[in-house]
Amino acid sequence: NKQIILKDYVNGFPKESDMPLITSSIIRLNLPEGSNAVLVKNLYLSCDPYMRGRMSKSKGSYIDSFTPGSPIQGLGVAKVLDSGHLNFKKGDLVWGMTGWEEYSIINASEILFKIQDSDVSLSYYTGILGMPGMTAYVGFYEICAPKKGEYVYVSAASGAVGQLVGQFAKLSGCYVVGSAGTKEKVDLLKNKFGFDEAFNYKEEQDLEAALKRYFPNGIDIYFENVGGKMLDAVLPNMRFNGRISACGMISQYNVQGDGVRNLGHIVTKTLRMQGFIVSHYYHMYSKYMEMIMPLIKQGKICYIEDIVEGLESAPAALVGLFSGRNVGKQVVVVARD
Ligand code: NDP
Repeated sequence: NKQIILKDYVNGFPKESDMPLITSSIIRLNLPEGSNAVLVKNLYLSCDPYMRGRMSKSKGSYIDSFTPGSPIQGLGVAKVLDSGHLNFKKGDLVWGMTGWEEYSIINASEILFKIQDSDVSLSYYTGILGMPGMTAYVGFYEICAPKKGEYVYVSAASGAVGQLVGQFAKLSGCYVVGSAGTKEKVDLLKNKFGFDEAFNYKEEQDLEAALKRYFPNGIDIYFENVGGKMLDAVLPNMRFNGRISACGMISQYNVQGDGVRNLGHIVTKTLRMQGFIVSHYYHMYSKYMEMIMPLIKQGKICYIEDIVEGLESAPAALVGLFSGRNVGKQVVVVARD
């Protein structure tokens, strides 16, 4: 069983060498009936920014740190080989919290969903049909309560979550602008995902002025994926009674915070800024599936993935999230069936 382990807790930016590949013995079959244990073969693994937090020694976060010397854990799509849990049986396809290894024993009482519809690409269950899709749905509709005609700004807009927020905003009749870190990504935002405007934030000397250019009348909804200097530039551009969905702050995950100066606008513009953790909303998963599946099948929504082959490619793929190497949802193929 090939595995990617965390060598030791990480400080600063993660490196590929923090996640070596090792080989261990194969897991035995025949799990005791009535247990929560499910043996799976991993097919697709998801690389997600929150995983960086789990590489640091626990600071009392909502999720435990990884254990140095043990396999990295992450969301993925897998095939059940054996199950002690009544709800899962051999041959089922599932998505949930698994290990960065060829075969894993999953605890079915953690995040584990049976895949009911496999006429779409299975890798979608790491993205649009999985955690990032739910994140875009909850963070946009539940947290921001968008109204037709509102002005929406999305940062890290071409990524796993952002590309969906932009498309949801268009479906809701909003005006939406996104930012991303390369020309290729900006082209995708405008030409593939249907954002009204998009810009490369790395080419802007003055982000606050750039936002003023795209939103001369201000922003009603900011979908926050980045934090730091981006948040600072957004705050003075918010309209009265604007809403900020604090989804993530990836610019801060590997550094000691670089101080946001403009928080006073929250008071003077009577803004509402609300954070959320998607795993608190999984009870809404079937409602989300009812909305999203027809949109995919009717071609009304599209989803771009950045797929790399082989478990050994996973560390570089995860590290790449923090330099913007990924174009769309970062997926690792361990096996196709
Ligand atoms: P992405 O697929 O968007 O990948 C990360 C992207 O972030 C990179 O491609 C890069 O794009 C951008 N980025 C990286 N470093 C920086 C930086 N220093 N400054 C600005 N942009 C940067 O990731 P996801 O869509 O999966 O996640 C987006 C956000 O949502 C993250 O903050 C994540 O933590 C958060 N999240 C929160 C959840 C929740 O429950 N609250 C659940 C899931 C995700 P670019 O080239 O444009 O710079």
